[in-house]
Amino acid sequence: MSIIRILAIEDEKQIRKLLRIGLEAEGFEFSDAANAAEGLDAIVKQKPDIVLLDLNLPDSYGLSILKQVREFSDVPVIVLSVKDKEADKIELLEAGADDYVTKPFGMGELLARIRAVLRRQPASSALPPFHSGDLEMDFALREVKVRGEKIHLTPTEYNLLGLLARHAGKVVTTQQIMREIWGPGLSGETGYLRVYVTTLRKKIETRPDEPELIINEPGVGYRLVNPAGS
Ligand code: CA
Repeated sequence: MSIIRILAIEDEKQIRKLLRIGLEAEGFEFSDAANAAEGLDAIVKQKPDIVLLDLNLPDSYGLSILKQVREFSDVPVIVLSVKDKEADKIELLEAGADDYVTKPFGMGELLARIRAVLRRQPASSALPPFHSGDLEMDFALREVKVRGEKIHLTPTEYNLLGLLARHAGKVVTTQQIMREIWGPGLSGETGYLRVYVTTLRKKIETRPDEPELIINEPGVGYRLVNPAGS
């Protein structure tokens, strides 16, 4: 297995330092962010394998960050918090946290939780291949075929198509696409998105000017046609 990348979003310097020492010693690649904004940006850009999320950050409360993350990413999230009320725990798990560690925690406990989350990963992260019309997308192989022929997509085109395919049949909003593909910093630059949709259509649509796969929902976003429903 390749190196596991762990991102900690934690405002306490001392804890970040302890995490770095403890996790790097175990062979993980570690990066950190000191607030929610940096953390969200790092999730988009670094695509970590696991996120450790402190619940109380200077610029946001953990639960709302978690909800934001879940709008665009399935990355496993382990929450770190001093709170230990059962209701909070349930709320967090329902909001999409994979596990929960109460501060102060020992490195041994955290490592056990990380390994448990990683063990659960392969089954949930292996998406089945996607088919729609002439388009086939194999997530495990990172391969896209049109009428049986393998086509070349740039990483951005692939990520964009993958995002639409994961939500096939549903509209993905422009804002959500911008955040996942380019990160929060560029979320206003929607011209990029139009350019990439155009190049993607040229590669996958039979008639790029009359698209039958990537449908624009004006003023909202884009929808990839799902053969099963839409
Ligand atoms: Ca904190």
